[in-house]
Amino acid sequence: GVAPASSTKRHARRAWCCGGVNFVLAAFVMVVPPMVILLDARASSPAVWISSVNVLRRGDGSILRWPAVDARDKLLGSLLADGSEEGSCHSRYLVSISYRGLGNRILAAASAFLYALLTDRVLLVDPSNEMDELFCEPFPGTTWLLPPGFPLTNYTSFGVSTAESYGNMLKNKVITTGDDGDIPPARLPPFAYVHLDHTATVEDKFFFCDEDQRVIRNIPWLVMRTDNYIVPGLFLVTGFQQELDSLFPETDAVFHHLGRYLFHPTNHVWGLVTRYYDAYLATAQQRVGIQVRVFGRQPESPELLEQITACTQKANLLPEVIAAGEPLVAPASARRKSTAVLVTSLKSWYYERMKSMYWEHAAAGAGEAVSVHQPSHEEFQQFGAGSHDAKAWAEMYLLSLTDALVTSGWSTFGYVAQGLAGVRPWVMQKPWNRLADQPCWRDVSMEPCFHAPPFYDCRLKRGADTGKIVPHVRHCQDVQWGLKLV
Ligand code: GDP
Repeated sequence: GVAPASSTKRHARRAWCCGGVNFVLAAFVMVVPPMVILLDARASSPAVWISSVNVLRRGDGSILRWPAVDARDKLLGSLLADGSEEGSCHSRYLVSISYRGLGNRILAAASAFLYALLTDRVLLVDPSNEMDELFCEPFPGTTWLLPPGFPLTNYTSFGVSTAESYGNMLKNKVITTGDDGDIPPARLPPFAYVHLDHTATVEDKFFFCDEDQRVIRNIPWLVMRTDNYIVPGLFLVTGFQQELDSLFPETDAVFHHLGRYLFHPTNHVWGLVTRYYDAYLATAQQRVGIQVRVFGRQPESPELLEQITACTQKANLLPEVIAAGEPLVAPASARRKSTAVLVTSLKSWYYERMKSMYWEHAAAGAGEAVSVHQPSHEEFQQFGAGSHDAKAWAEMYLLSLTDALVTSGWSTFGYVAQGLAGVRPWVMQKPWNRLADQPCWRDVSMEPCFHAPPFYDCRLKRGADTGKIVPHVRHCQDVQWGLKLV
C-alpha cells in the first residue's frame, strides 16, 4: 500500500505485502517519541513453536526481546494437554479472544499484546471475526493468529462462570495467593482463563494486583477475554511500572504506538482507504472527522444534529452559516479556504443534513468552502460480516487521517480513530450526560478509556478510587468511572 499523499507526515506507514515478505518499516516516531522499532532480528532457534524472537527498542534505546510463533509452524504443541515442553524453548502463552465490535477487538488485541510483552508470553489472537482478512500479520515471519487445532476447543465460550477462570479459581481456593513467595508451577493449573470483560467480578480484577501477577506468571497458558482497553489497569501493577516507563516515555501515547505498530489494513481495506481519501479528502486544506455513533433503531435525532453543529462551530472546526437573504461577502475563490468533512455513522441522515446546510447557506466570515462526505451507512451493527467490518475498519482509519476529530463519547470506534490519528478529540457526550452549554469538550488525552476498571487498592486490600493511585491514570470524562492514561 501507499500512504495517501498528504498524510505521510504523521502517518508514515509500513508499506508491505501481506505475505509478510516485503516489509519496510517507516518509523512512526515523528510526533511522539519512540516506543518500539522492529529490528527484525529473528533468532534461528530449533524450537517447534518459537522460532522467532522479535526485538523492540525502548524509549532509552535499550532492547526488549519478545517471543512469537513461527508462521510456518502449523503444529499446535501438546503443551496444554500434558504440560510437557518438549521441543519448545518457551513455555508461556497468551490467547486473546476476539469478540464484539471492531473497536473493542482492536483495543483488546492491543492490550493483550502489551500484557504479553510485559510478561514474556507468546501472543496468539483468536482468528474468528475475520481478523486475518482485516489486518496484516504485524510481525514478519511469524503469526499472531492462533493456529487451528487448539486443544481447548470451547475456549470462545468461556465466560464469567467458567470454573477455570482466575477469579473463580481464587474464589474456590483452587489457587491461593499470599506473601509467602511464588507458588511452584507444579501446584498451579496448566491454564487459566482471564475474564476481564464488563461482567468481570472483583476476584477477576485481582488480575491487576502484583501478588496475583506473581502467581499468574507461573501458569503456562492464559486465555484472556476482554472487550476493553485494559492498559490503564496494567499501569496500576507496580511490577510493570519500570518496563512501562521505559517503553512509553509519554504515557498519553500508549495506544498510539501500539495501534500504529500492530494494526495495518489488508490490501482490500487499504484500497478502500486510499481510494476514498484520494477522491474526497486529499485536496482539502483542512480535514475534519466527525464520528456519529448511533445505536439500533435510534431515530434521526435533531438534538444530536444540533449538538454536532454547536460543537464543530464552538471548537472553530467548521464555520457558521449565514441566514438566507443575508448579503454574501466572499473573497475570490482562489483564496478561499477549503475544508472536507468526513462523517462516519451507521445512518446517513446527519451527513445529509450537514451537506445541505453548507450547500443551501453560505459559510459566514471568509466564505470557507465546506464539502461533506460519508463513505457508508450500514444502518445496523452486524456481526461476523466481512464486508461490514472492512468498511468499519476503513472508516476508523480514514478518521485517523483527518486533522481534527469530533467523536462520540463511550465509543471504542472513536477511541481507535483518535489513537491512530494521535490527536486529542472533541468529545460529544451522551444525551443523558450532556450539559446544555457544552455540546463537546476537548479530551485530556488521545488514550482510550478503560470502561471496566478495578476499584481496589491491592496494597491496602480494600476498595479504592483507582483514579487516584498513580500519577498518569485518571478518570475519563465520557465514562466517569472509567480510567485513562493522561
Ligand atoms: P462501539 O460499539 O462504539 O464501542 O464501537 P465498535 O467498533 O466496538 O462496535 C460498533 C460496530 O458498529 C463497528 O465495529 C461497526 O461494525 C458498526 N459501526 C458503528 N459505527 C459505524 C460507522 O460509523 N461506520 C461503519 N462502517 N460501521 C459502524
